[in-house]
Amino acid sequence: MLWERIKGQDEPVAYLKRAIDRERVVSGYLFTGPEGVGKALAASVFAAALNCPVSPGGGCGECPDCRAVARGGHPDVHHLAPSSKSRQILVEDIRRTRRSVYLAARGDNWKVFLVEEADRMNPAAQNAFLKTLEEPPRKTALILITPHPARLLPTIRSRCQKIAFSPWPSTLMEPFLRERTGLSPEECYVLHSLSGGCPGRALRFHREGILETRREVIGPLTEGRLLSAREAADLAENWIAISTRPGRKLAAELKKERAELEGDLDPGSRKDREARDNALVAAADQAGLELIFQLIFSWIRDLFLYSSIGDRAPLINRDLERRLAESARRFSGPGLRRMPARIEESRRLAFRAATRPARRVVLENLLIELGFWRPPAGK
Ligand SMILES: [Zn+2]
Repeated sequence: MLWERIKGQDEPVAYLKRAIDRERVVSGYLFTGPEGVGKALAASVFAAALNCPVSPGGGCGECPDCRAVARGGHPDVHHLAPSSKSRQILVEDIRRTRRSVYLAARGDNWKVFLVEEADRMNPAAQNAFLKTLEEPPRKTALILITPHPARLLPTIRSRCQKIAFSPWPSTLMEPFLRERTGLSPEECYVLHSLSGGCPGRALRFHREGILETRREVIGPLTEGRLLSAREAADLAENWIAISTRPGRKLAAELKKERAELEGDLDPGSRKDREARDNALVAAADQAGLELIFQLIFSWIRDLFLYSSIGDRAPLINRDLERRLAESARRFSGPGLRRMPARIEESRRLAFRAATRPARRVVLENLLIELGFWRPPAGK
């Protein structure tokens, strides 16, 4: 059965299976939960289970219908996702979908519409979608998939049955990541922790080289010694450079896309497009900075736990335990207890810092407060 392919989501799976068994499938679903925990897979399995003639409600996974759903080519199962160019779901996309909603399905099939990244529908698209949700033909299921349900209109949310997907426990994640990445169990655990238990996000982090990034970000902090003034300044500067890397890459891609569109856009939409792109880059910069603080926090947290309860501590950076043991000898005591609050305060200031030098000063101060750097007296 196809349902068995969905791991770590027992409740949503049981709920959806029961809905089919008891003929209580509704016309609107909202699949929520963090990025990369299997929401889209579950939606696709649900669509197959609704239309599989071999194992109705189960989805055999082998028949032409099940295979067509899996490849995204089933005539009654439609996928909608932000277009790569606009990165939005536009009202035209919804109108096109609306037309196919009212075309009859084959035989007694269910028509299923999967809307991935549904929060990328702009307001006009959401309103158009709402109309479809208000008067759906029978045997039609619209499934909205998003980690950010709050970005949808309340009127859309209230018309959908909410199905919440959860992060995975580490016992499920470790074998999954080991098989796909070939990393050590300790490294898989680091990915598990940093991804918040989201397998899809963990794989993305792995592809993006997060373990190398971690080495760059906290490497100098793991050496169990004080930094020189030069090293502290370089590290703060490096943190900023690392945090803006994804944003810079995205900005270059978007600029290229805009150049390709150049002729097709009137000046008004060009401006809109540019404003939207800038917002995407700003969001990537924020996520980059967030990651830096997450990595610093993970190290200080581990240091605190290790110095309090030794090798029984549930560490995040398990692969660095030896370094942690050495560092804990130097950086220990009651001061560590105050560190999380200090990191949080720096994080707040760093996000507010308007310029790069201002942000660097915040990060240098954090190094002083964490005890990795002692500025010469008088500074
Ligand atoms: Zn089948």
